[in-house]
Amino acid sequence: MKWTDFFIPTTKEVPADAVVPSHQLMIRAGMIRQITAGSYAYLPLGFRVMQKITLIVREEMDRAGAVELGMPALHPVELWEETGRVDAMGETLIHLPDKSFRKGTVLGPTHEEVITDIARAYLHSYKQLPINFYQIQTKFRDEARPKSGVLRTREFLMKDAYSFDIDQEGLDASYDKMFAAYCRIYQRSGLPYFAVQAESGAMGGSDSTEFMVISDAGEDILVRTEDGAYCANLEKAEPAPLPEPGCDQQQALEEVHTPGNTTIEQVSSLLGCRPADMIKTIIFQDDDKPLVALVRGDHTVNEAKLARAAGVSSVEAATPSQISQWTSADVGFAGPVGLDARVIADQAVTVMHNAVTGANKTDYHFKGVNAGRDFEIKESADIRYAEEGDRATTGQALIFEKCMEVGHVFKLGTKYTAAMKANVLDQNGKARPMIMGCYGIGLNRIMAAAIEASHDDGGIIWPISIAPFSVLIVALDVRDENVMAVAQDLHDTLSESGLDVLLDDRNERPGFKFKDADLIGVPIRVTVGKRGLADGIVEVKQRRNEQVNKVAPDQAAKAVRDLVEQERGLPAS
Ligand code: ATP
Ligand code: MG
Repeated sequence: MKWTDFFIPTTKEVPADAVVPSHQLMIRAGMIRQITAGSYAYLPLGFRVMQKITLIVREEMDRAGAVELGMPALHPVELWEETGRVDAMGETLIHLPDKSFRKGTVLGPTHEEVITDIARAYLHSYKQLPINFYQIQTKFRDEARPKSGVLRTREFLMKDAYSFDIDQEGLDASYDKMFAAYCRIYQRSGLPYFAVQAESGAMGGSDSTEFMVISDAGEDILVRTEDGAYCANLEKAEPAPLPEPGCDQQQALEEVHTPGNTTIEQVSSLLGCRPADMIKTIIFQDDDKPLVALVRGDHTVNEAKLARAAGVSSVEAATPSQISQWTSADVGFAGPVGLDARVIADQAVTVMHNAVTGANKTDYHFKGVNAGRDFEIKESADIRYAEEGDRATTGQALIFEKCMEVGHVFKLGTKYTAAMKANVLDQNGKARPMIMGCYGIGLNRIMAAAIEASHDDGGIIWPISIAPFSVLIVALDVRDENVMAVAQDLHDTLSESGLDVLLDDRNERPGFKFKDADLIGVPIRVTVGKRGLADGIVEVKQRRNEQVNKVAPDQAAKAVRDLVEQERGLPAS
């Protein structure tokens, strides 16, 4: 492919809202163009990368035994009503105006409902299972804040797969296959990733793994040990229990006047204690009954962990009037002493001594509060978020890093099949809902994550597997016939051996062309110029390092192929 026949509108102009490197570089390299907020056109260079990623994903899905199909983006809203997800999706679900279609229609943000509708139409016996359907298709989500270029958009390409099994063992096997396929996809795409235990919703039981790439552009937090032996997302991360500090003498319980001081900060500064010396009492409601969480004043309650500890599907904050009624005090003065409610204390609270906490009396707190003497801890669990300074249960320090989710595998169970009555007959002729898993991977995010993970000041450094071209031949002196003949010959030879080659035949200054070469990040560059040819050489260089290899023109193809092998991580032939 000749540059002048192709279309790469590189530019220095970067919009002010492009702050993350992948967004800036994709625009500068002429790969994408924003059409409206959260919706991008993929220009030819960007499109080629998407195609390469798509191919890898498709190959690995096929290898794992999944079968590809195509589902529509237009969904009848009734399918979403069957599973109750119209509400659950909220604003994210894009509804088309009623008048466009006879019945309500939405744009698919994901396809559990549609695939389950297909499954219930065709799958009737355990003998047809297991089966894993996948598609590579555009999703629509009205994200509240589309941002960071193609990392979070309203329209994006996802590979989504859905497995159907007759029993839990079947699901486990389907899930393991997808897990392995995902690892291969990221490895092949050259992405340094972490497979992270994720929160799978309350009640627990089912596995869920998020695949994360470390990046400042990410919106999630990865919590891990230095050696990576432990990693979890922040929602799920479990800090080791805090050690018993060894008690100074137990102080007497003392009521102190704290008028108008309702926050941890206010009370700790008024009483001259640290937030860590306070017990934070947070009141939730469970079916109009109080459910009270106790965490250390400097810790944050994790509602998903609390719900799991309480054995409920989710927790809901109590209203101010409920709080006043249950604590006999205004909001801001609750505490565990004398409180008649179900209380779950965080593990860190169980090792506190002489704590400060609300007195269940407006404008009063207690000092010298000790569990066991002043109130009883009947239930304790890990119900807080891990924090800097926490350790893993192995004793290693926990590290917190920003990351982005590039994929997710999830054991769904019978949530959708039960709601939509997608039953099959089991070995005993009994109808039961199929057991589902779902597996999603964001293709655009893989592209952006690869750039986030691999770039320098000059531009992108593509992993060769997803690079738009593997080789860039930069012809200097394009009006020199000999230069163009050598460049074209090399282009043809390499192309014939199956490599995708771009030939920069633009009549521009060398510096300008080298800048563009670095920007678009093609892994291997060959420079053919008049002066070099006079000396009997062309220059071969990898984008990822500065080293320039000078080789005779007739050795260039071999030199390039060796570097391609090296870039592919295989031993050079
Ligand atoms: P996030 O928490 O980032 O919103 P999600 O949990 O909503 O992601 P899933 O519904 O599991 O994501 O979708 C599967 C994959 O699709 C994600 O792992 C991600 O790679 C990709 N993805 C999700 N939302 C977007 C988006 N708005 N733009 C681009 N890719 C997305
Ligand atoms: Mg989302």
